[in-house]
Amino acid sequence: MIFKTTLFLFTLSVSFVGEAKLSIIGKTTINIPKKEVKTVKPYKIVIVTDPIASLRAEEFKKYLITKPPFSRMGEKLQIEMVPMDSDTMGCKNDMPDSPRIINCNRDLIYKTQSDHNAHLALAFTSSGSGGAGGDIPIASMDYPIQTMFHEMLHTFGLADEYDYSESEQKVYCDNPSSSPNVVYFKDTPPYEADSFARSKHSDKVHWMGQIPLVQLITSGTNLGSASLEKINAGLQPLGLFRGGSCNNSTLPGWRPYQSSIMKGYDDDTIYPIYEEAVLKNIETALGRKTSLPPAQANCVHTQTSINVAENLGSEVLSIVRKIPQPHNHKH
Ligand SMILES: [Zn+2]
Repeated sequence: MIFKTTLFLFTLSVSFVGEAKLSIIGKTTINIPKKEVKTVKPYKIVIVTDPIASLRAEEFKKYLITKPPFSRMGEKLQIEMVPMDSDTMGCKNDMPDSPRIINCNRDLIYKTQSDHNAHLALAFTSSGSGGAGGDIPIASMDYPIQTMFHEMLHTFGLADEYDYSESEQKVYCDNPSSSPNVVYFKDTPPYEADSFARSKHSDKVHWMGQIPLVQLITSGTNLGSASLEKINAGLQPLGLFRGGSCNNSTLPGWRPYQSSIMKGYDDDTIYPIYEEAVLKNIETALGRKTSLPPAQANCVHTQTSINVAENLGSEVLSIVRKIPQPHNHKH
């Protein structure tokens, strides 16, 4: 079956929502075989919540659908609330030395995800106080709404953009690998000109081509965009900023924005770099091919460890559990 359309010379791409996108350049008439425009099933998230935390979970759902790419997905995104009693969820602060670390019955939450044919499960709890990462993001109802989103973005392969402490680096940074939002390479000052730095490091910085020429990636003869005095949420310039996760003097880390939700809560805007990583994951989960760069997990470790994210204040706590999967991460 075909449908006929009149349009200008075009480029055609099938978006993740399965619609034909047409860019019009010059006039011609073509037939598009309709079978090529695939119907794509929705991406499904289940939010497992106990009764007391359910209002918070609803609040998060409203927050999430304002954030790209979720804000663009319309009916191709399905979010289902799954009520579960608190005892069954089994969330608790079970680490006396770190009273705000939460753990839940992850096996059961996985099973719930599977039973609902969902691609991702989140857990909100009123039992205890804290947050946890891993492949099932967990947040307590009394933490900032961004906490769950930060943890979710880890699941989609984004790395922390704040620097781990020296002791944390000993645990997490044996062999740091670059991720969509933090890359590692040694700078080689002095840089005679910004253009020289750009060409020298463009192979390492996959967002280099998107940095406007007016946004310098050098400060004097050193590598790194100059810090802004004030963060304008939603209006930050893309650049090359020093720091992130395993950043240290031996192996510097570099990130795209001065601040982001992966660094703190000054600006929880989802800039295109972050959106790309999320979209790539969604596309993969839906079994679709994508040309976006692969998302990577940062600091993959399999040991149990607990961390307080200093740059997130005392808001976000973390846990790395013995889950030998690529989306395991610091917090
Ligand atoms: Zn984190």
